[in-house]
Amino acid sequence: DYALYHSKERKRGSTTLFSQEHEDAIRDARAVETALQSADLAAEMEMHYQPILDTVTDRITAVEALARWTSPKLGRVPPDRFIAVAERCGMIHSVTLLLLRKALADAARLPPEIGLSFNLSSHDLASSETVIAILAAVRRSGLDPHRITLELTETALMRDFEGAQQAITLLRALGIKIALDDFGTGYSSLNYVHRLPLDRIKIDRGFMADVETDLGRSVVSTILDLCQNLGLDGIAEGIETTEQLNAVRGHGCRYVQGYLIGMPQPMADLLDGLRKMTPPAEPVVV
Ligand code: C2E
Ligand code: MG
Ligand code: MG
Ligand code: MG
Repeated sequence: DYALYHSKERKRGSTTLFSQEHEDAIRDARAVETALQSADLAAEMEMHYQPILDTVTDRITAVEALARWTSPKLGRVPPDRFIAVAERCGMIHSVTLLLLRKALADAARLPPEIGLSFNLSSHDLASSETVIAILAAVRRSGLDPHRITLELTETALMRDFEGAQQAITLLRALGIKIALDDFGTGYSSLNYVHRLPLDRIKIDRGFMADVETDLGRSVVSTILDLCQNLGLDGIAEGIETTEQLNAVRGHGCRYVQGYLIGMPQPMADLLDGLRKMTPPAEPVVV
């Protein structure tokens, strides 16, 4: 049967296509792993920062740190690719801490009313060693923990729900906020979202593509109602057009993020942009 199936597939060419893609993916992951293991991570990695807008005050309320790796061997490698590899080859603990320290150091340059949001890998909360190291890094940075949000995905919670719950409680006791990232892309969000001590929910950008259709609108407004009922801030991700911005605002979404508001950029560029947005209160006398 297998041979028959196989030859049928082969005739259509899909087996060959699949195994070719599969082989490419494996080769790619190996190349990333090799480059990662021999990388000077501190020198090759930097963080970019994307603004999150409070539409009520019309001010930037926080920035999300997004990792950027330029490998001398591979060029730019997007975080979706190298984080997964770091998780598999046991490097995620050191990668997370390196990136977090960079983000905390950069955040010292932000005005004190602006918060820092940082993405955790799904492996991070499962390791008490990592959680303790995160707490130590935050304390050593001197940044007010109330300004820090840690973003988690559903995968992180499903990996070990009890463990994640404990870690979240510990982090929140220090004042750190917790956001559930990419909300709506997992398969069981509604099962546990009310059982977790969360502060924010980030509505996945996949929903914004449809937000102008009736069905898309009703999905987004349902998620926003859920946020409101649970007393959580909803943040709409991936806002690219004014129509999308108006649609989510119309449903009471206060916080928005996306290319329309600002691109991920180096801290220096972000600070320049902020200065242009908020001119000095006193006229400058030359
Ligand atoms: P995420 O946390 O959901 O981050 C949002 C992603 O959407 C970012 O991609 C951002 O550049 C992109 N984005 C923002 N606005 C728009 C928009 O208007 N349109 C579109 N099409 N895209 C937009 P990026 O930087 O490639 O990061 C991808 C993912 O990699 C992140 O998704 C996050 O899960 C992960 N990641 C990034 N930095 C880190 C990190 O430092 N640590 C860990 N563990 N994961 C990270
Ligand atoms: Mg995120
Ligand atoms: Mg997201
Ligand atoms: Mg994502």
